[in-house]
Amino acid sequence: MSAPAPAMLSLIGNTPLVELTRFDTGPCRLFLKLENANPAGSIKDRVGRSLIEAAERDGKLKPGGTIVEATAGNTGLGLALVAAAKGYKLILVIPDKMALEKIAHLRAMGAEIRMTRSDVGKGHPEYYQDMALKLASEIPGAIYVNQFSNPANPEAHETTTGPEIWEQMNHDVDAVICGVGSGGTLTGLGRFFAKHSPKTKMVLADPKGSILADLVNTGKHGPAGSWAIEGIGEDFVPDVCDLSFTNEAITIDDGESLRTARDLLQKEGILGGSSTGTLLATALRWCRKQTEPKRVVTFVCDTGNKYLSKQYSDFWMAEQGFLPRNSRGDLTDLIS
Ligand code: PMP
Repeated sequence: MSAPAPAMLSLIGNTPLVELTRFDTGPCRLFLKLENANPAGSIKDRVGRSLIEAAERDGKLKPGGTIVEATAGNTGLGLALVAAAKGYKLILVIPDKMALEKIAHLRAMGAEIRMTRSDVGKGHPEYYQDMALKLASEIPGAIYVNQFSNPANPEAHETTTGPEIWEQMNHDVDAVICGVGSGGTLTGLGRFFAKHSPKTKMVLADPKGSILADLVNTGKHGPAGSWAIEGIGEDFVPDVCDLSFTNEAITIDDGESLRTARDLLQKEGILGGSSTGTLLATALRWCRKQTEPKRVVTFVCDTGNKYLSKQYSDFWMAEQGFLPRNSRGDLTDLIS
């Protein structure tokens, strides 16, 4: 028997859905599912719980066991929340380019951090995913959860996010817009809506530089570029990602994504992360080109707290070329 889970875990999921009222959404009604309201701050809390509970069910994870994952992102936070609550040890293998704030946050949640090189690729023993796999094989009773190929990842969305949206939208959803990091959200929701509401279109929101939008729209892709948006966009198609559910993909550049997230905070008071900007910008474009009224859902994937010194700083935005340098005159926001 694992330790009884604290009530905190019951706060994962059942997130609010709100309708946007101050954006031009053409003939459509646009709703945002507030995944930032999860206890560790993102849509990945659902996946942290699902990955751990699946490993418990399969008998792979025993009381007091060790979980290994390769991430410094929201999955790490979700896993850290659930691992702490259930008494498991969590080891995260993190490439050394990751922000110190993220590492400090994960450490504070009780995760053990193993830093590794960012400058090596798959197949190198110090590549973070190869290192996590090896580490898990060396520690007795440890498991490598690997969200990119673990079916418990999309399952979390098929069994929780999808049904919640369906109920909150009164069984009437024309389109769902989401991004792909691991593809868990898109695949899980794609499966749910294919079963319950075949009319619902899945639209991919993709940062410029990612290969996925081209793959969806043309079946081919060129070389991957780079992008500033965190958590979505890929240079490969993860094992768990089933793009066949996607009818259409829209590419958004970094500047438009980040400015749209800032607009969301100023117009509606919702503090979302960078991927939220990509999703909302995609949703707005999709809504405005419709000729009939549609009911559309997209996500605030994570809280914007950790982006205050980036997308919410006029100084940073101007330095990156995403806002004109004189947008606030003297660029004093960092010290005021
Ligand atoms: N937004 C953010 C901020 C994320 O961290 C993630 C997960 N990487 C996603 C969106 C995309 O989720 P998924 O892994 O389900 O594709």
